Amino acid sequence: MSKTILVTGGAGFIGTHTCIKLIESGFDVLVLDNFSNSSPESLKRAESITGHSIPFIEGDINDAALLDEIFAQHAIDVVIHFAGLKSVGESVQQPLRYYHNNVSGTLVLCDAMQRAGVKNLVFSSSATVYGDPASLPIGEDFPTSAINPYGRSKLMIEELLADLYRADPEWNIALLRYFNPVGAHPSGLIGEDPAGIPNNLMPYIAQVAVGRRAHLTVFGGDYPTPDGTGVRDYIHVMDLAAGHVQALLWLEHRRGIKAFNLGTGQGYSVLDMLKAFEQACGKSLPYQLAERRPGDVASCYADPQLAAKELNWRAELDVQAMCADAWRWQSENPDGY
Ligand code: NAD
Ligand code: UDP
Repeated sequence: MSKTILVTGGAGFIGTHTCIKLIESGFDVLVLDNFSNSSPESLKRAESITGHSIPFIEGDINDAALLDEIFAQHAIDVVIHFAGLKSVGESVQQPLRYYHNNVSGTLVLCDAMQRAGVKNLVFSSSATVYGDPASLPIGEDFPTSAINPYGRSKLMIEELLADLYRADPEWNIALLRYFNPVGAHPSGLIGEDPAGIPNNLMPYIAQVAVGRRAHLTVFGGDYPTPDGTGVRDYIHVMDLAAGHVQALLWLEHRRGIKAFNLGTGQGYSVLDMLKAFEQACGKSLPYQLAERRPGDVASCYADPQLAAKELNWRAELDVQAMCADAWRWQSENPDGY
C-alpha cells in the first residue's frame, strides 16, 4: 500500500515541485496550506503535470482542531513540513508574526502529530542556520547561529525537534538544510511567484529579463570572492524535491534526528548567475553595483557528502538548467500564477 504524506505548505514554491516528485515516486499526498503566500492554481497546474488529483485542505498549521481532524480522517505516515514565512526583511519588521507562524505553528503541528501517533517528520530548514561560516564548504557539524528572526525561527525549530526526539526516541526526523533553491519545473507550468518586489536574486533577475524591473541591483562588489560579488550554492528546485523523496526513504530505515545539507557543493557569484541567465534568455541584462546588503555573508556553499552517503542523493542539474527552466516559467507566465 502506498504511503500518505501530509505536505504542509504544499502549494508553495518548493512544496508544489515536491508534490510532483512524491506522486511520481508512488506516494499519496495531502496538502495543508493557508494560501498566505500561494494559491490553489499552483496545485491545479501540478495536477495537470502529474495527471493525478492533489487533494488539499485550506487551513493553518496553528489550528489544532483542524490538525486533529486531518489525522483522524487520513492515515498519514509522514509529514513534510514546508509551511512557514520566509522573508528575512519582513521577519525583522514583524518578529512576532514570524515566531507565531513558524515556531508556534511547528509546536501545534508536532503536538497534533504526537496525539495521533504520527512521529515521522521532514522539516524545511535552511543554510541560514550556519550564519557566517568560518570555512568552506559547510558541513552539517559546523556551529549554528542566526542573525535575524527568520533564521532564529529555523534554529529554534531544529532545537525543539531535537528536544522532542530526546524525550521520545520514537520520533524520526530529517532536518533538510536547503542552500539556494532556484529554477522551475521543466514544463514551465509552475515556478517561483514572489509577492511584490522579489528579495531573492533569481526571481529578481527573471523579472528584469521579462521587463518587469529596469535593472538588477548587485549588493556588494567588494567581497573577498573571485569577482567581488557574493557567492552562493544555487540548487535546482527539482533536485531539491528529489531530496525529499530520498529523505522519506531514509526515514523508513533509520531512527533518530539528523540534519542534511541539500546543496550542489558549487559556489556561483551574483555576476556568474546574471551571465548564465543572459545566456538562457538571449538578452543582455542591465545591473548596477550597490552597497552590501546588511546581514549577507560573502560566500556560502555546502559540503553535500552526507546526503550523498546517507540519503543516496546528489544534485544533478546545472546552472544552465536552473536558468533555462526559470526563464521558461517567467517568460510563459510574466505575471506569475
Ligand atoms: P513558499 O512561501 O512558496 O511556500 C510556503 C507555503 O506555506 C506557502 O504556500 C504558504 O501559503 C504556506 N504557509 C505559510 N504559513 C502557513 C501556515 N501557518 N499554515 C499553512 N500554510 C502556511 O516558500 P518556499 O520557498 O516553498 O519555502 C518552503 C519552506 O522552505 C519554508 O519553510 C522556507 O522557510 C524553507 N526554505 C526556503 C528557502 C528558499 O529560498 N525558498 C530556503 C531555505 C528554506
Ligand atoms: N543579491 C543581489 N541583488 C538582489 C538580490 C540578491 O545582489 O536583488 C545577492 C545577495 O547579496 C546574495 C545573493 O544575491 O549575495 C543571493 O541572495 P538571495 O537573497 O537570493 O539568497 P540568500 O543567500 O540571501 O538567502
